[in-house]
Amino acid sequence: MHNENQSLIFEITKPGRVGYNLEPLDVPDFDLEELLPKELVRQEAAELPEVAELDIMRHYTALSRRNHGVDSGFYPLGSCTMKYNPKINETVARYAGFANVHPLQDESTVQGAMELLYDLQTSLQEITGMDEVTLQPAAGAHGEWTALMMIRAFHEANGEGHRNKVIVPDSAHGTNPASATVAGFETITIKSGDDGLVDLEDLRRVVGPDTAALMLTNPNTLGLFEENILEMAEIVHGVGGKVYYDGANLNAVMSKARPGDMGFDCVHLNLHKTFTGPHGGGGPGSGPVGVKSDLIPFLPKPVLVKKEDGTFHFDYNRPQSIGRVKPYYGNFGINVRAYTYIRSMGPDGLKAVTEYAVLNANYMMRRLEEHFDLPYDRHCKHEFVLSGRRQKKLGVRTLDIAKRLLDFGYHPPTVYFPLNVEEGIMIEPTETESKETLDAFCDAMIQIAQETIDNPSIVQEAPHTTVISRLDETRAARTPVLRYTKKEEVTIS
Ligand SMILES: *Cc1c(COP(=O)(O)O)cnc(C)c1O
Repeated sequence: MHNENQSLIFEITKPGRVGYNLEPLDVPDFDLEELLPKELVRQEAAELPEVAELDIMRHYTALSRRNHGVDSGFYPLGSCTMKYNPKINETVARYAGFANVHPLQDESTVQGAMELLYDLQTSLQEITGMDEVTLQPAAGAHGEWTALMMIRAFHEANGEGHRNKVIVPDSAHGTNPASATVAGFETITIKSGDDGLVDLEDLRRVVGPDTAALMLTNPNTLGLFEENILEMAEIVHGVGGKVYYDGANLNAVMSKARPGDMGFDCVHLNLHKTFTGPHGGGGPGSGPVGVKSDLIPFLPKPVLVKKEDGTFHFDYNRPQSIGRVKPYYGNFGINVRAYTYIRSMGPDGLKAVTEYAVLNANYMMRRLEEHFDLPYDRHCKHEFVLSGRRQKKLGVRTLDIAKRLLDFGYHPPTVYFPLNVEEGIMIEPTETESKETLDAFCDAMIQIAQETIDNPSIVQEAPHTTVISRLDETRAARTPVLRYTKKEEVTIS
């Protein structure tokens, strides 16, 4: 099935072979040494692979087949919402009027593209219950940081620049404390109670005159809806702090409940998760931020506005703005895809998304609860977290279970996260998977649980069917080989 010995592109090179044909040069050639300092000009030719077009096509096609994406198989990576990305999004993003516009074009020539962005902002305002939305941030974490910078500017404008503490529950996504730190705040961690929800007493204990904000993920990373949300907002507002909603997991509440109605002052969304932007390969993403009216003056500039004559305009005249957070106005292509998704689903479609996402997660949780420990046995939202502690007692770790799933052709769930679950296995099926797929994955998990009892070594030594077998995790992390080295030069000690 696999070409175990697939050569590197540098190993199939044959001097003189070409994979392209260029037109003869019809502009004056130039002398590099006249343009650049001599010591910067390479003297020998660069060592590049020389291959024919067919060779390169086969090479990269073979590599792509070793990849796992949502188009090739189930991808229940908790907290990442690896749902299907409808191909109509790609069609629309490729329309010449969207694909070929340049960000430096005059506004009068890109009114259609600006209208699309404006309509997307309006839809996201409606979906989140916020008063204004910016599309500038390029990722979820970037949105978190942008919102925190706005909160900082808000406090400073009110003569309260001393507010330097951001409260983050221990079940938060790791980006939350990281964003707070990068934005210059001190992070205070509060514990979850036995029910997996924020402990209100702990929250009351830590709030005070130095509280800048509470960052809350809802549903939290255990997949549980924070039931005391209104009370939490009240506690933080009571001491003059702001309440921030990490809306990366909006797939669980979209069209059912709105952060704006829960008392939040700002929210970020991950358009590359809930709104079907392709992700997993590192970008480009989109992490819009929505705010309530008192944060509007601090929005990053420019702000996209609709003028009275119906035309669209980038407003730079925003004296209290935190400034730009991204060149131009966000990642346009991913925003076109999100717009296409929202328009093709409609409000009822988005509501159905939420219902199926939650139904699918609860269905799997109930099928698996006998076979794995379920530390928080409550109705879950879009995802749930199992614990592999029962299997660990038999010598099989959650990491082994994740590796064994590769043999069944699945991308493993998120593991060892959130940190408050021992040997955590975090499963998010999303709404786009069929019951057959969910059942087949549950069958594989149940088989692995049985193997753990009958034949643990098959799990401990997995994977058995992949191109690369079990890596030495420590060596892979501590001494990675990141540069191409000719085969004979690689020394495996
Ligand atoms: C994915 C995620 C983030 C971070 O989003 P990025 O786009 O990866 O920066 C933040 N919070 C939660 C809850 C998430 O699931």
